[in-house]
Amino acid sequence: MSGRSADRHQPASGETAAAIDLLTPPPDRHLAFVALGANLDDPLHQVRAAGDALATLADSRLLRLSSLYRTAPVGIRGQPDFINAVAALHTGLPPLSLLETLFAVERRFGRRREFHHSPRTLDLDLLLYDQQIIDSPRLRVPHPRMHLRAFVLVPLLEIAPGCLIPGRGSAAAWLPAVGRQHIQRLTL
Ligand code: AMP
Repeated sequence: MSGRSADRHQPASGETAAAIDLLTPPPDRHLAFVALGANLDDPLHQVRAAGDALATLADSRLLRLSSLYRTAPVGIRGQPDFINAVAALHTGLPPLSLLETLFAVERRFGRRREFHHSPRTLDLDLLLYDQQIIDSPRLRVPHPRMHLRAFVLVPLLEIAPGCLIPGRGSAAAWLPAVGRQHIQRLTL
């Protein structure tokens, strides 16, 4: 990660680490979780660079970025493994603006949308936005399949162990349901 995100585990001056929950947003900020995934063009590099891009997102602050994970594609055969991670952000952007901003990052990384489930240089999904439930044609939050995917749940729980998914309860409670999906934490 870039130096810009190096403060993500540091308490603000004058506060002790124990006294503040770093994921609790200040006034006018929102807590968003974003899933990162890539399986083309040096996916390790893509996800690392995407983490750097999230650290410079407009009106937002990258709080935490999970480890990188290697995962087998879910629901598709004959594709390269994915590299996945999950990021936590504080943002002043409303949900749709945040989604558009994430799409702009995807485009910068040369994302091609050739067909549904096609391999991708970078895929960014908005998983959670505070505890809001949004069901619009362009945006569904919580991401409708996040609780069924080890490549989301495992990195999400690494950075937010107590995470709740609105309408689905504790994220940790869904782990047994994805226990057969192959996922490997990378120690780099
Ligand atoms: P994908 O190609 O799998 O990344 O899906 C992107 C499409 O899903 C776009 O048309 C988005 O508008 C839509 N979408 C709906 N909800 C979400 C979400 N929570 N995060 C990302 N894309 C979403």
